[in-house]
This record gives sequence, structure tokens and C-alpha cells, in this order.
Amino acid sequence: MDDLGSFTFDGQTIGFRSGESVLEAARRAGESIPSLCFDPRLKAYGSCRVCVVKINGRIGASCTTPCAPGLTVTVDDEIASLRRTLVELTGSLLPDDRLSGCPQCRLDGTCEFHRVARAVGAEPGRFAGAAGGVAHPDDNPFLGRDYSRCINCYRCVRICDEIEGDNAITARGRGFESTIAAWFDRGLEQSSCELCGQCIHTCPTGALTDRKMATKIAEVEKKTRLPILAEEIQRVESVCPYCGTGCGITLNAARGELLGITPVMDSPAADGALCVKGQYGTDFIASPDRLTKPLIRDRDPSTGLRAVGGGFREASWDEALTLVAGRLAGNLRDHGPDTFAAWASARTTSEANYLLMKFTRGVIGTNNIDNCQRT
Ligand code: SF4
Ligand code: SF4
Repeated sequence: MDDLGSFTFDGQTIGFRSGESVLEAARRAGESIPSLCFDPRLKAYGSCRVCVVKINGRIGASCTTPCAPGLTVTVDDEIASLRRTLVELTGSLLPDDRLSGCPQCRLDGTCEFHRVARAVGAEPGRFAGAAGGVAHPDDNPFLGRDYSRCINCYRCVRICDEIEGDNAITARGRGFESTIAAWFDRGLEQSSCELCGQCIHTCPTGALTDRKMATKIAEVEKKTRLPILAEEIQRVESVCPYCGTGCGITLNAARGELLGITPVMDSPAADGALCVKGQYGTDFIASPDRLTKPLIRDRDPSTGLRAVGGGFREASWDEALTLVAGRLAGNLRDHGPDTFAAWASARTTSEANYLLMKFTRGVIGTNNIDNCQRT
């Protein structure tokens, strides 16, 4: 991307790129500008105004101001005071119970709202307000919605529209009565929601939560009789195994148990987006039905037939591989290489798929190889 020109930010010269706002260019240059309604994956919205700066002496939101050559951007005491007051006014929509009640603060040490409040020196309880929404009694096991913690940034509505294309939720009401609702104010499962969890991960407060992870945390806490603290959660980055896209995921674990998955926001494959399987499909990891050893179904000596739907016994890898190799060799000898076909998996590495291709073409001698994406 070519630099198109430059502007000054508190005396520092910053080059900007095509389409960048003052907020984006300044943050890229290392300036710290607080915001609440901004998510770099979404179109700028400019509703919270917390990113205000002075642009050529006039106060304006930096997220909706496009860069232009020669702009003079400054942040002074008046701007600092304005940001503080804006965050305090926004905080009047929230219960004043950071850490004790905010589920996101409990999980991450702080939610985005409380981090921004601290950064601008705001006291969230300074103004008496009123929460417009209430907890929604959805039946789904994945996504909890408690709009008493909503600050009306509409990031959830916008990500559901702009990134997911689902339009499952919308804003309704005005002022303190304003809240977010799914279709006809029913449960998410009765709307077009795909339970992708995108709205949870853009929400800057604890209004939207991963209910499955919360349930798991409660289960582990009950078992170990101790609350789980944010600092004891191990967070390990990995790649989702479900399809060939390879979205970045973070495995969150504590006391030897997987609590849940969160997306890696700067994962090149997904930009923080996961599907319902990648976000919630983790039960197989600890399932007692999971195969950990090869199983062989022997023939019944009296009938010479294999049992249908069962009759497996555990075997060693050596025994299983010898059996498969012998059967394959016999088949090739008796019926030729084109009786063999291989389906590569999008869930394995490129190297493993390459080896399968070499094995199929070079060792077996057939071109019958395809990929599960096409079946
Ligand atoms: S889970 Fe996904 S589809 Fe459902 S409301 Fe949230 S963003 Fe929209
Ligand atoms: S639920 Fe969260 S993301 Fe949605 S409008 Fe409220 S605070 Fe913003």
C-alpha cells in the first residue's frame, strides 16, 4: 500500500494509506487513541465519540475523519476531559460491578470497556443512569445475552450484518430504553443466527458471553471447589482442525480441562471469525468414545463373516498396519491399481496431503485421488 501523504499528530508526522481514517493511521503509527464502537473489521460508525481529537482546531471523531494531506491533529487537556466524560456517560448504562459481576472482566482480567475507562481515567459510576435491557432467556447452550451490560455500541449488530451477513439482531427502542433484539425479540435460535459467536468477541462489555464456556467454568469450579481466576487460564494458540481454511483459535484451559475456544483476531485465515463448529465443537476432545487405538473387526470363525455394527477388538498399530498393507497389496495384485482411490483430508497438513498424493500416484500407480472438500 502506498503512502498517499502525511499529516501531523501532536507534532509527529504520520504517513497515511488509501482509505485510512485518522484513527487507523495514528494507531498504526503507535499513537494510542481510545474507542468503544470501533472494530477495525467494521465500517467506522462514530457513535461513541470516545476517539475524539482536534482536527485543525475543531473537535471531531477520528474514526470517521478520513486522512488528508496537511491535517493538524492534536490531543490536549480539553480532549482528555471530553473523552473521560463520554466514557462516564456511557458507563452510566452499566452496573458498577467490575470484576465482581462483569463476566468478561472475570475471564480476561478486564473487558474492553473497563480497560478504556481506566486508560482515560473515567469513573464509570459517576453519573446515575439506567440499563435499557435485561438478560434474554435464550434456550441455546452457546450464547448468553445480558443487555443490562450493553452500552449500545452496535458492534454486535454491525458484525452480524457486515461480516456474517446474517442480520439476526438489530437495535430497538430509544435512549435508556434502547436495546438489541433478535427477530420479533425471540431467542437467537428462532432467528437467522448461525451461532458463530462473532458478536461475543466484538462486544466491548460482558453483555454477550460464551455460555458454553461459562457452563464449563462453573462445572470445573464446582469440581475443584475454587473459583477460576483470569490469570490461571492457560491460553494456547492453535489452528482449527475442522476444515481447510485453518482459522486461528486459542484454546483456553484451566486445571487440566478445556474451558472453551476464542478466535485469534489477527489470524490471516479468518480475521477473528469462526463458524459454530470451530467456536463450540470441542466435546470430541474429552469424549470417552474417541478412538485412541486401532480397532480390528475379525471374522467369526464359525461363519467366516464379520459382525455387523460391532465385534471390534483393540489392536496394536503394527498389527493394524500389517493387515491393511496385506489387504491393499492383495487387491492391487488381483484387480489392478484403478480399484484403489484416496480421499485427502482438509484437516491434515499440506505435507501429509502431498505424501498421500505421492503414495497414490507413485506407489499405487493410479490418479484416483481427490479431496474431501469436493465430496
Ligand atoms: S452468533 Fe453470529 S449470527 Fe448469531 S447474532 Fe451473533 S454474529 Fe449474528
Ligand atoms: S451487546 Fe455488546 S456489542 Fe452489542 S451493542 Fe451492546 S455493548 Fe455493543
